[in-house]
Order: sequence, then C-alpha cells, then structure tokens
Amino acid sequence: MLTPLSLSPSFGFGDRLGLATPGHIAAVRSTKFAPIFAQQSVRENTRTGRTPQQVMDDAKRAVDAAQWGAPWGADADHLKTVDDLPPFVEAGYTFFTVDPGDHVDNAADADSLAVLEQKVAGANWDQLSALYLHQKREQVWGQFDAETLMRATVKYGRAIQHAVTMFKRLSEMKDEFDFEMSVDETDSPTTPLEHFFIASELTRLGVRFTSLAPRFIGRFEKGVDYLGDLDALDAELAKHAAVTSHFGTYKLSLHSGSDKFSVYPLIAKHWRERIHVKTAGTSYLEALRVLAKHETDLFMKIYALGCERYEEDKRTYHVSAKLDLLPNTDDLPSLLNDFHAREMLHVTFGSALAQFGAGIRSSLVKHADAYQQGLQAHFDKHLSLLK
Ligand code: ZN
Repeated sequence: MLTPLSLSPSFGFGDRLGLATPGHIAAVRSTKFAPIFAQQSVRENTRTGRTPQQVMDDAKRAVDAAQWGAPWGADADHLKTVDDLPPFVEAGYTFFTVDPGDHVDNAADADSLAVLEQKVAGANWDQLSALYLHQKREQVWGQFDAETLMRATVKYGRAIQHAVTMFKRLSEMKDEFDFEMSVDETDSPTTPLEHFFIASELTRLGVRFTSLAPRFIGRFEKGVDYLGDLDALDAELAKHAAVTSHFGTYKLSLHSGSDKFSVYPLIAKHWRERIHVKTAGTSYLEALRVLAKHETDLFMKIYALGCERYEEDKRTYHVSAKLDLLPNTDDLPSLLNDFHAREMLHVTFGSALAQFGAGIRSSLVKHADAYQQGLQAHFDKHLSLLK
C-alpha cells in the first residue's frame, strides 16, 4: 500500500532505470525497514529523461507483480522550489524531501563577528536570543552563546524559512505526507547544536517533518564507503541521535547512503528505529555489473563514454575519483569494485542513458534474473549491517 511511512525505520531505493524494484523487494522483504520504491530527484529526472509519473508507474508495476502488500513510499527527492512540487503531487508521491541548500549561508562558519551582526540584522534576533540563550542545563549537543547562535541563525535561518514556505504550499495540495528537510549537500557540516536549532525552529514554525538530513562530518561520496575519521563520526552521530530523541518526532536521514558499510553499525547503534537511509546510483552500478559480465561490448562503450564525460558530469556531485587512477584490467566486473571506476560510472549515468539507454534497458530485461540476484545480494549486505 502506497502510504506515508511516518516514524517507521525506512530505506530508500532509488531506481534510475525503472527495472530495479524486483531486486529491491527481494532484499527488503523480511527486514524491519519500510521501503521507498520510487525515489527520484529533479536532477535525476532531468538526467534520465523520466517524469515523476513514469518513475511511479515503474515502481507500481513491480510492486503489483511481486504482490508486495505492506506499506511502501514514494520520495520526491531534493525539491528546491515550490514549482518542483506539482508533478510529484499529481503522481501520488507520499514523501517530500525539501532541499533548501541554496539558502544556506556557508560563509557563516568563518564570518567575523561584525559581519555576523550585519547579517543577523534581518532576523528576529530578540526572539531567538530569548529562546536559545541562557538555557539552564548544558546538553550533550552543546549550548548556544551569542556567537554560535548568530552563526546558526545566519547559516540556516533563510533555509528554514524556505522549508516553511515549501511545507505550507505542500499542505495546501495534500493532506498526509512525509516531509524531510535535507541540507546534506551543503559545503560545511551541520553541528549537533545546529541540528538542534533547525529541528527546534521547524517545530516552532509549525512544520510537521518526519525526517531530517544534516550534513555529517567527513565525506559521503556516491557509491563508495565513508571517507573520514570513523571515531569522530561515531561521537558525532551519538550527539545527533540525542537531539533526535529529545524531540521524538522525526527520524535521522542518511543521504548518499549506499555502500557506507563502515558507517552502518554506527547508525544502527545510535539511531536505532529513528532511521532513514537513501540510496540510488548503487542500483545503477549493479546494472553495470550485469553488463560487465554478460554484455561486454556495451559495457566497454559506457565505460569509455564515462571517461570522456566525467570531468563535466561530476560538477554537481561530491566525488573525488581521478581518471588517471582508473585500474588497467581485462576483468571487467572487477571494475565495479574499484573506487575510481565506481564514482566515474556513477556520476556519468545521465550521459550513458542519453546515448545507450535503450540498449542498457533491453540488456537488463534479457538478464533480469541476474540483475535481481545481484541487487538482492548487494542490498542484503547493506540491510544486514543496519539490523
Ligand atoms: Zn541528498
């Protein structure tokens, strides 16, 4: 049943090709996670040439065929403006991820006091300082002084306002829905204290949100494991979890959540049931693994095109792969285990689909069993570490 998932632990399976849901269903069955089977951002739709309705129809077809009777959701991901909303609402999406990242002031972390004072002039500073300064008890996520409150206000104030606008507009169009605010693609990490500020302000301003995606420390790049200090992340995730349980009204959301095998035990430990994980491109990489095994000519063409397009296509993504570090090997499926090849192939999916989309899809239909089995094994690995 397509429905809001509210506070159930949940897992997002983005599917850029419209052929991955059978594998996703096989993996998520008999886990505690409520699945999101349709999950696509405006950016992805632009690159795949699919509409929100097509993404929904592909997921529905697979759900019906597999006779999946439990709740599932559909995530309109990374919506930036109110104009992004209508096509997703019309197609029946149940989960709306609002990304006000363009309104986050990344410079606030480093601004001088004088600059902060100037910038904060437009905000309702008297009210904010009455609310957030002089709190009696220090919490594990920290305590505001005038300077940190100014930084948080400057950094996230306009983004919070934009999320409020998006929520109000959506509430006029729909009764029940999951609402997420994501700031995961900003330049600077969200501190636990800033997380507290965002959650508190959204709540105060009447936004009923069911998940929140801060930008965590370290690097969560696409389709590869975490890059950063795991001990530092462990401590930070515990503080974020403390903020979440303080409110008790929403889940923490991990974006670019695929292949973060070293991080899953940490979020399982700290976040427990209040968890949402998003994945997308890793299912495309599993499709390429099938092609690397069974359709080598087509795979070689996609690989060569990816190398050609990488520098251009990576611009809107956080990736650090280098073309000159790509492995030199005849063992094509092994490329799908290489950091540099994975990221290169991951961010060039739009170019690959524009040129070879029909061939990729027909090959995957031909090797549907292999694709389903590959996806199931790949996501079993994710989900078993999140237990
Ligand atoms: Zn994201």
